[in-house]
Amino acid sequence: MGHALSCGRSNLDHQFFKAMETGDLKMVESALRRDPEILHQTTLYGRLFLLHIAAANGRLEVLSAILDRSVHPDLLNRHKQTPLMLAAMHGKIACLQKLLQAGANILMFDSLHGRTCLHYAAYYGHSDCLQAILVAARSATVADSWGFARFVNVRDGNGATPLHLAARQGRPDCLHILLDNGALVSASTGGYSYPGSTPLHLAARGGYLDCVRELLAWGADRKQRDSSGRIPYTVALKRKHGACVALLNPSSSEPLVWPSPLKFISELNPDAKALLEAALMDANREREKNILKGTAYSLPSPVRSEQDIDDDNASEASGMELCCICFNQICTIEVQDCGHQMCAHCTLALCCHSKPNPATLCLPAPVCPFCRSIIAQLVVARTKTIEEDKDNSSKPRKSRKSQNSSSEGSSSLKGLSSAVGSLGKMGSRGSGRIADSCDMDKP
Ligand SMILES: [Zn+2]
Ligand SMILES: [Zn+2]
Repeated sequence: MGHALSCGRSNLDHQFFKAMETGDLKMVESALRRDPEILHQTTLYGRLFLLHIAAANGRLEVLSAILDRSVHPDLLNRHKQTPLMLAAMHGKIACLQKLLQAGANILMFDSLHGRTCLHYAAYYGHSDCLQAILVAARSATVADSWGFARFVNVRDGNGATPLHLAARQGRPDCLHILLDNGALVSASTGGYSYPGSTPLHLAARGGYLDCVRELLAWGADRKQRDSSGRIPYTVALKRKHGACVALLNPSSSEPLVWPSPLKFISELNPDAKALLEAALMDANREREKNILKGTAYSLPSPVRSEQDIDDDNASEASGMELCCICFNQICTIEVQDCGHQMCAHCTLALCCHSKPNPATLCLPAPVCPFCRSIIAQLVVARTKTIEEDKDNSSKPRKSRKSQNSSSEGSSSLKGLSSAVGSLGKMGSRGSGRIADSCDMDKP
């Protein structure tokens, strides 16, 4: 950033700005002692204050030294951008957090596109900054004055929400965080990009498969049209993004959709939620495989096939209860308060199955498929160890496959442990298991 200085008003020199950019705190401090006024002077063209330059370059020490001198954190440059916006734009998370602590306002709009710091973090794909801003938004006065949900969906001067920008730029991590925090998946833009575009249109245009996948799993509508009457499929087709075309084709099978708007799910225990998310992605990957089978596109993840093998092994490993709805996967999710267990796939199918009443958006509370009691919470199931299982070795165990390999012992245990992760420390209910007494038929 070679900034010309507003000469006449300023006795800052090029050396000083160099020091700012390289974070030479001593030099900056001695310059500040000589002339405290430089804190209030700007560069000639961008009208950047020292605080902007420190934030954009991630110079935390210098930034802190300036803030300690009671400089207001929301100084504006030529485009009415705050130092917080520049930190979000350049992904300088430490400076961003320092500015937030100093009381920087997250609800400022620049004059360039009418964007906030949240737009900038999403556009440039800095998911850590995005997350930090959202945390601040939950606690700050913004939550009271504007409402958190409104802030997540804040529009820029052209009607683009942060979600639109993340989709347009192909930022799946930011997309996920925004959706998880209540971003509206089917919002359409005003004038931004092509009018009336949804995030799915924008991801389709760029051919961002991960974003398309994420948006579909959050319930994006493949048939929603933009202002010119195009569906995302048409947009991807025109730009020859083959894999996206296949997934966006309205005649290909429906993806499994994460029931995110449901209060029930948003209150999920984080470990159980992670398991369910993985199950959802699994199910959708299977579907993608089938969709892409006949096309020239295949999924670019050879790692995944190893994982598949591990999953298969996991269900054969001894010491684990098979889900007695599908007889296919291991019970990883436990229903509270009844204690019945099932696998993540079946839990998800159960939650996705109950659709909200379109008039009230009220959802019938999901019930346990075994005892019909209301599901108060889902937690990660505690799984039995092999030691415990010795006592029960006479009990019949159902398995999808016969034990067809004698050499898979150690690898299946490895797969098993990765599949069930850190279950040992979770709840300790052992007696609620229904596998032995369950008479349900295979679906
Ligand atoms: Zn199951
Ligand atoms: Zn139950």
